[in-house]
Amino acid sequence: MSMNSNLSYIKFLRKSGINFFLQDNPKKSYEENKLSTNQSFSENIENINNLEDLKEYINNSNICNLKQKSNQTVFADGNPSAKIMLIGEAPGAEEDKLGKPFVGLAGKLLDKMLAAIKLDRNLVYITNIVPWRPPNNRTPNDKEILECLPFIQKHIELINPKIIILLGGTATKAVLASPIGITKLRGKWHRYNSLNIKNSILTRAMYHPAFLLRSPNYKKQAWEDLQEIKIEINKLDYE
Ligand code: URA
Repeated sequence: MSMNSNLSYIKFLRKSGINFFLQDNPKKSYEENKLSTNQSFSENIENINNLEDLKEYINNSNICNLKQKSNQTVFADGNPSAKIMLIGEAPGAEEDKLGKPFVGLAGKLLDKMLAAIKLDRNLVYITNIVPWRPPNNRTPNDKEILECLPFIQKHIELINPKIIILLGGTATKAVLASPIGITKLRGKWHRYNSLNIKNSILTRAMYHPAFLLRSPNYKKQAWEDLQEIKIEINKLDYE
Protein backbone atom coordinates (compact mmCIF):
# COMPACT_ATOMS: atom_id res chain seq x y z
CA MET A 1 0.00 0.00 0.00
CA SER A 2 1.63 3.25 -1.02
CA MET A 3 1.66 6.21 1.33
CA ASN A 4 -0.84 8.08 -0.80
CA SER A 5 -3.21 5.16 -1.10
CA ASN A 6 -2.93 4.57 2.65
CA LEU A 7 -3.78 8.19 3.31
CA SER A 8 -6.72 8.22 0.93
CA TYR A 9 -7.95 4.96 2.48
CA ILE A 10 -7.89 6.59 5.91
CA LYS A 11 -9.74 9.63 4.54
CA PHE A 12 -12.27 7.26 3.03
CA LEU A 13 -12.72 5.51 6.40
CA ARG A 14 -13.19 8.84 8.15
CA LYS A 15 -15.81 9.92 5.61
CA SER A 16 -17.58 6.63 6.21
CA GLY A 17 -17.86 7.56 9.87
CA ILE A 18 -15.05 5.35 11.11
CA ASN A 19 -12.89 7.53 13.31
CA PHE A 20 -11.72 5.07 15.88
CA PHE A 21 -8.16 3.83 15.91
CA LEU A 22 -7.00 5.94 13.00
CA GLN A 23 -3.87 8.02 12.93
CA ASP A 24 -4.11 11.50 11.48
CA ASN A 25 -0.69 11.06 10.01
CA PRO A 26 -0.09 7.46 8.96
CA LYS A 27 3.12 8.46 7.26
CA LYS A 28 4.86 9.11 10.55
CA SER A 29 4.66 5.54 11.67
CA TYR A 30 6.23 4.27 8.46
CA GLU A 31 8.93 6.91 8.50
CA GLU A 32 9.93 6.22 12.06
CA ASN A 33 10.02 2.57 11.22
CA LYS A 34 12.27 3.29 8.29
CA LEU A 35 14.62 5.47 10.27
CA SER A 36 14.83 3.20 13.25
CA THR A 37 15.89 0.15 11.29
CA ASN A 38 19.23 -0.62 9.79
CA GLN A 39 18.30 -3.28 7.29
CA SER A 40 20.15 -3.12 4.01
CA PHE A 41 17.86 -5.43 2.04
CA SER A 42 14.93 -3.07 1.99
CA GLU A 43 14.44 0.52 3.02
CA ASN A 44 10.75 0.34 3.39
CA ILE A 45 8.28 -2.25 4.63
CA GLU A 46 6.13 -1.55 1.58
CA ASN A 47 8.84 -3.07 -0.64
CA ILE A 48 9.10 -6.31 1.28
CA ASN A 49 7.85 -9.28 -0.69
CA ASN A 50 8.83 -12.34 1.34
CA LEU A 51 8.57 -13.61 4.91
CA GLU A 52 12.30 -13.81 5.55
CA ASP A 53 12.72 -10.13 4.80
CA LEU A 54 9.69 -9.25 6.90
CA LYS A 55 11.12 -11.24 9.81
CA GLU A 56 14.44 -9.46 9.49
CA TYR A 57 12.73 -6.10 9.12
CA ILE A 58 10.72 -6.63 12.31
CA ASN A 59 13.80 -7.94 14.11
CA ASN A 60 15.70 -4.79 13.22
CA SER A 61 12.86 -2.41 13.94
CA ASN A 62 12.95 -0.23 17.02
CA ILE A 63 9.62 1.44 16.44
CA CYS A 64 7.96 -0.08 19.49
CA ASN A 65 9.34 0.13 23.03
CA LEU A 66 8.10 -3.36 23.78
CA LYS A 67 11.07 -4.74 21.88
CA GLN A 68 13.61 -3.51 24.43
CA LYS A 69 11.64 -5.06 27.27
CA SER A 70 11.33 -8.49 25.67
CA ASN A 71 13.85 -11.28 25.13
CA GLN A 72 13.24 -11.76 21.44
CA THR A 73 10.96 -11.19 18.47
CA VAL A 74 8.25 -13.83 18.14
CA PHE A 75 7.52 -13.93 14.44
CA ALA A 76 5.25 -16.84 13.53
CA ASP A 77 4.70 -20.59 13.50
CA GLY A 78 3.02 -23.06 11.18
CA ASN A 79 2.80 -23.37 7.44
CA PRO A 80 3.40 -20.23 5.33
CA SER A 81 1.37 -21.84 2.51
CA ALA A 82 -1.63 -22.43 4.77
CA LYS A 83 -5.02 -21.12 3.74
CA ILE A 84 -5.88 -20.33 7.34
CA MET A 85 -4.08 -17.63 9.31
CA LEU A 86 -4.58 -17.23 13.05
CA ILE A 87 -3.70 -13.94 14.69
CA GLY A 88 -3.32 -13.60 18.44
CA GLU A 89 -2.47 -10.67 20.67
CA ALA A 90 1.15 -10.80 21.81
CA PRO A 91 3.68 -13.32 23.07
CA GLY A 92 3.54 -14.37 26.71
CA ALA A 93 6.40 -15.58 28.92
CA GLU A 94 6.75 -19.00 27.32
CA GLU A 95 6.60 -17.56 23.79
CA ASP A 96 9.18 -14.92 24.72
CA LYS A 97 11.47 -17.69 25.97
CA LEU A 98 11.03 -20.07 23.01
CA GLY A 99 10.51 -17.56 20.18
CA LYS A 100 7.27 -19.17 18.92
CA PRO A 101 3.66 -18.01 19.25
CA PHE A 102 1.14 -19.93 21.35
CA VAL A 103 3.45 -22.43 23.01
CA GLY A 104 2.27 -21.81 26.60
CA LEU A 105 -0.97 -22.84 28.29
CA ALA A 106 -3.17 -20.83 25.91
CA GLY A 107 -1.29 -22.47 23.03
CA LYS A 108 -2.10 -25.93 24.38
CA LEU A 109 -5.79 -25.05 24.38
CA LEU A 110 -5.46 -23.56 20.90
CA ASP A 111 -3.95 -26.85 19.68
CA LYS A 112 -6.97 -28.69 21.13
CA MET A 113 -9.37 -26.25 19.49
CA LEU A 114 -7.65 -26.77 16.15
CA ALA A 115 -7.68 -30.54 16.60
CA ALA A 116 -11.45 -30.35 17.21
CA ILE A 117 -11.86 -29.20 13.62
CA LYS A 118 -9.15 -31.49 12.28
CA LEU A 119 -6.44 -28.86 11.99
CA ASP A 120 -2.93 -28.72 13.33
CA ARG A 121 0.02 -26.37 13.06
CA ASN A 122 1.04 -27.81 9.70
CA LEU A 123 -2.28 -26.73 8.25
CA VAL A 124 -2.42 -23.21 9.65
CA TYR A 125 -0.15 -20.19 10.04
CA ILE A 126 -0.01 -18.44 13.43
CA THR A 127 1.25 -15.01 14.39
CA ASN A 128 0.41 -12.12 16.71
CA ILE A 129 -0.52 -8.45 16.38
CA VAL A 130 2.50 -7.48 18.45
CA PRO A 131 5.71 -9.53 18.04
CA TRP A 132 7.19 -8.65 21.45
CA ARG A 133 6.02 -9.64 24.91
CA PRO A 134 4.48 -6.75 26.87
CA PRO A 135 5.80 -6.58 30.46
CA ASN A 136 3.80 -8.78 32.85
CA ASN A 137 1.69 -9.96 29.91
CA ARG A 138 -0.34 -6.77 29.97
CA THR A 139 -2.54 -5.99 26.95
CA PRO A 140 -0.67 -3.94 24.33
CA ASN A 141 -1.94 -0.36 24.31
CA ASP A 142 -3.29 1.45 21.22
CA LYS A 143 0.04 3.16 20.57
CA GLU A 144 1.89 -0.16 20.56
CA ILE A 145 -0.75 -1.77 18.38
CA LEU A 146 -0.56 1.08 15.88
CA GLU A 147 3.22 0.93 15.80
CA CYS A 148 3.08 -2.77 14.97
CA LEU A 149 0.12 -2.52 12.58
CA PRO A 150 2.26 -2.27 9.42
CA PHE A 151 3.87 -5.61 10.40
CA ILE A 152 0.58 -7.51 10.55
CA GLN A 153 -0.75 -5.79 7.43
CA LYS A 154 2.31 -6.90 5.49
CA HIS A 155 2.20 -10.34 7.13
CA ILE A 156 -1.40 -10.89 5.99
CA GLU A 157 -0.50 -9.65 2.52
CA LEU A 158 2.41 -12.13 2.22
CA ILE A 159 0.46 -15.13 3.52
CA ASN A 160 -2.68 -14.09 1.64
CA PRO A 161 -4.83 -16.70 3.41
CA LYS A 162 -8.37 -17.67 2.48
CA ILE A 163 -9.54 -17.39 6.09
CA ILE A 164 -8.27 -15.22 8.95
CA ILE A 165 -9.11 -16.20 12.52
CA LEU A 166 -8.71 -13.40 15.03
CA LEU A 167 -8.06 -14.64 18.55
CA GLY A 168 -9.33 -12.18 21.14
CA GLY A 169 -10.26 -8.53 21.37
CA THR A 170 -6.86 -7.04 20.57
CA ALA A 171 -6.43 -8.89 17.27
CA THR A 172 -10.04 -8.16 16.38
CA LYS A 173 -9.75 -4.44 17.13
CA ALA A 174 -6.49 -4.13 15.20
CA VAL A 175 -7.39 -6.12 12.08
CA LEU A 176 -11.04 -5.13 11.74
CA ALA A 177 -10.21 -1.55 12.84
CA SER A 178 -13.39 -1.49 14.87
CA PRO A 179 -14.27 0.01 18.25
CA ILE A 180 -16.94 -2.68 18.69
CA GLY A 181 -16.01 -5.32 21.24
CA ILE A 182 -15.37 -8.96 20.42
CA THR A 183 -18.61 -10.05 22.11
CA LYS A 184 -20.53 -8.34 19.29
CA LEU A 185 -18.06 -9.07 16.49
CA ARG A 186 -17.72 -12.81 17.10
CA GLY A 187 -20.42 -15.13 15.81
CA LYS A 188 -20.42 -13.71 12.29
CA TRP A 189 -18.18 -13.46 9.25
CA HIS A 190 -16.33 -10.31 8.30
CA ARG A 191 -14.17 -9.38 5.33
CA TYR A 192 -10.62 -8.11 5.60
CA ASN A 193 -9.79 -5.69 2.82
CA SER A 194 -6.46 -4.28 1.84
CA LEU A 195 -5.52 -2.27 -1.22
CA ASN A 196 -2.66 -4.73 -1.72
CA ILE A 197 -4.82 -7.84 -1.69
CA LYS A 198 -6.96 -8.59 -4.71
CA ASN A 199 -9.83 -10.36 -2.96
CA SER A 200 -11.14 -9.60 0.48
CA ILE A 201 -10.41 -12.29 3.05
CA LEU A 202 -13.09 -14.08 5.10
CA THR A 203 -12.42 -13.19 8.70
CA ARG A 204 -13.80 -14.62 11.92
CA ALA A 205 -13.23 -13.24 15.40
CA MET A 206 -13.34 -15.61 18.34
CA TYR A 207 -12.56 -15.59 22.02
CA HIS A 208 -8.89 -15.86 22.92
CA PRO A 209 -7.85 -19.25 24.33
CA ALA A 210 -6.35 -17.54 27.41
CA PHE A 211 -9.76 -15.95 28.06
CA LEU A 212 -11.43 -19.34 27.62
CA LEU A 213 -9.07 -20.82 30.21
CA ARG A 214 -10.18 -18.14 32.67
CA SER A 215 -13.85 -18.21 31.63
CA PRO A 216 -14.78 -21.73 30.53
CA ASN A 217 -18.47 -20.72 30.31
CA TYR A 218 -17.64 -19.09 26.98
CA LYS A 219 -16.28 -22.31 25.46
CA LYS A 220 -19.69 -23.15 24.02
CA GLN A 221 -19.63 -19.98 21.89
CA ALA A 222 -16.06 -20.69 20.85
CA TRP A 223 -17.15 -24.18 19.82
CA GLU A 224 -19.94 -22.67 17.70
CA ASP A 225 -17.44 -20.36 16.00
CA LEU A 226 -15.16 -23.33 15.32
CA GLN A 227 -18.02 -25.23 13.69
CA GLU A 228 -18.77 -22.26 11.40
CA ILE A 229 -15.08 -22.03 10.53
CA LYS A 230 -15.05 -25.75 9.75
CA ILE A 231 -17.91 -25.30 7.29
CA GLU A 232 -15.92 -22.64 5.41
CA ILE A 233 -12.77 -24.76 5.50
CA ASN A 234 -14.64 -27.65 3.92
CA LYS A 235 -15.69 -25.31 1.13
CA LEU A 236 -12.00 -24.62 0.48
CA ASP A 237 -11.44 -28.28 -0.22
CA TYR A 238 -8.68 -28.30 2.36
CA GLU A 239 -6.15 -31.14 2.24
N1 URA B 1 -1.34 -15.26 23.61
C1 URA B 1 -1.25 -14.68 22.40
O1 URA B 1 -2.09 -13.87 22.02
N2 URA B 1 -0.24 -15.00 21.62
C2 URA B 1 0.68 -15.88 21.97
O2 URA B 1 1.58 -16.13 21.19
C3 URA B 1 0.56 -16.49 23.23
C4 URA B 1 -0.45 -16.16 24.03
